[in-house]
Amino acid sequence: MLTEQERARYNRQIMMPGWDEAGQEKLKNAKVMVAGAGGLGSPVLTYLAVAGIGKIRVVDCDVIELSNLNRQMLHPDSNIGKLKVESARERIEALNPDITVETVNTKITDGNVLDLVEDYLIVDAMDNLQARYCLNKASLERSLPLFHGAVYGLEGRVTTILPGETPCIRCLYKDVLPGTPPVVGVTPGVIGCIQATEVLKYILGMGKLLYNRLLIFDGLNTIFNKVKIKKDPNCDACGSSV
Ligand SMILES: [Zn+2]
Repeated sequence: MLTEQERARYNRQIMMPGWDEAGQEKLKNAKVMVAGAGGLGSPVLTYLAVAGIGKIRVVDCDVIELSNLNRQMLHPDSNIGKLKVESARERIEALNPDITVETVNTKITDGNVLDLVEDYLIVDAMDNLQARYCLNKASLERSLPLFHGAVYGLEGRVTTILPGETPCIRCLYKDVLPGTPPVVGVTPGVIGCIQATEVLKYILGMGKLLYNRLLIFDGLNTIFNKVKIKKDPNCDACGSSV
């Protein structure tokens, strides 16, 4: 049962056809891990928090630097030097004190990823392929959906991975891009919002998810392209030979 306060807080989304109080209960009982409290993590965490996801786990290993602030809008200038997970917790709890925020200040590795993920839905809000491979491993081993987003300059990509049904991260990405990529803050804003939308739809069982499709946002020309993607039968992580 929702409390009176929850009914009031979520009133406008409960009005959505197919959402209802039962849907809001599903969000309240949901557990989501957001890997990365940076450019993508900022909008993902913000919108999952205000939507009422009951338990949000934030994993990051960095402190806030001045050069982060053009895109990582969860963090105020006054928090430079603080741990990103602590700054994220402050902001999320201020936005919605009715939810539980768990923070883990650690680098995600093959060795710890299963313990970090447990049975939480996984949002890939990372900025490097090594960490994405770790999340991919947990997603495949635990059969948990992985909500992937990536940005470069004014271009972004987003897809929803369902183990066994869709390509995995290793089917999609083989090579690490060298160097530090440019990023304009609006790009993770757009992509992170779509990732959060996918998470909500998945939990609510609403609409059509971005399965087997990569949505590519070309911000320079304001174009969204949705391209079909296929499992790689020879994929090291999910291929038929594994
Ligand atoms: Zn694969």
